[in-house]
Amino acid sequence: MTISVKVMSCIERSSWIRKMFEEGALLRKIHGDDKVFDFTLGNPSMEPPAAFHEELLRLAQNPEPGMHRYMNNAGYEETRAAVAEVLSAHSPLPVTADQVVMTCGAGGALNVVLKTILNPGEEVIILAPFFVEYKFYVDNHGGVTKEVWTDRETFQLDVAAIEAAIGPNTRAVIVNSPNNPTGVIYPRESLLALGEMIARKEKELERNIYVISDEPYARLAFDGQEVPGIFACVKNSVVVTSHSKDLALPGERIGYLAANPAMNNVGQFIEGAIFCNRVLGFVNAPALMQKLVAKLQRVSVDIGEYQEKRDILYNHLTALGFNMVKPGGGFYLFPRSPLEDDVAFVRLAQKHNILLVPGAGFGAPGYFRIAYCIDGDIIRRSLGAWDLVARDAGL
Ligand code: PLP
Repeated sequence: MTISVKVMSCIERSSWIRKMFEEGALLRKIHGDDKVFDFTLGNPSMEPPAAFHEELLRLAQNPEPGMHRYMNNAGYEETRAAVAEVLSAHSPLPVTADQVVMTCGAGGALNVVLKTILNPGEEVIILAPFFVEYKFYVDNHGGVTKEVWTDRETFQLDVAAIEAAIGPNTRAVIVNSPNNPTGVIYPRESLLALGEMIARKEKELERNIYVISDEPYARLAFDGQEVPGIFACVKNSVVVTSHSKDLALPGERIGYLAANPAMNNVGQFIEGAIFCNRVLGFVNAPALMQKLVAKLQRVSVDIGEYQEKRDILYNHLTALGFNMVKPGGGFYLFPRSPLEDDVAFVRLAQKHNILLVPGAGFGAPGYFRIAYCIDGDIIRRSLGAWDLVARDAGL
């Protein structure tokens, strides 16, 4: 055998997005790029904002001596200070640069946090529908995932269901708002209710239970909404995020984790996280990107463009009879599958050159995901194909 049995089985269990991507490539070869409507990947087609290229040029023309060397494993002080300043606006206690660790994307930050806190066999609650990598990340560090459904109609937090799942082995709950795949934003009252419940369980079980708030879509909120900050709602909370989506830089692997200044033993937590960033082999987040994002903490891609794409698809699909929650942010829609079997529905859509991911890929059979971070032109041209899909699905 070449690779481990475990990795082999992980590859098989996580194959949906990859499979659809490969089939899309085949369809494009047969029908041509402009005839295939690929809604499978959360890979923004937008370019980074102009300010990113301006900073990049400025740095290239005026390189700072030593800027490509090894550094403190937590990252550059100036970058962490810039991040801390922005986070402080949503935190009852000011966040300091010492409470921030720069990471290789949100995925890197999640792995660092999980390695920092998990003892073997401890449980991490994930909320269905969920970003599928959570399961693998938790497993990477010897943890066990426990799946709890959000409300099946609204995809909002079901605090009572989370409470029922907490036991003596629970170490963390991962929340993700705006959510991948549903686009739902959790309101402040829900996060406060979560925080109150967790504090009560921590007392009862005499252990820290962390809320890990995975927020790469936090700046992609529509209709003038603000995504509530977790630090004001949950004491033992950590933000993990990146600039993969808000600055359209997923390939650059730049993100960070930040601990709530109010957290128990916050200094020890950060010391652990810095160590884990090092020994996971990341060592530190990419130096050049740290220099750039330090200057871009108040810059984002054009959110209006995503909102317009949401509106085009949401309005067209609901008029056709598809049933879905209107997303408050991010760049995904997660409609109910009109066929009971979501995989069969995805196959049906594929016949009309529309590529989707079945809900089964997010722990939520019976739904399907549309990633609309693609060119508006492709979205508009796909509408006729959606009409045919709706007809064939009996809507
Ligand atoms: N968390 C969620 C919910 C995501 O959707 C993604 C990426 O799609 C990530 C984390 C990972 O982000 P990054 O590319 O910054 O590692």
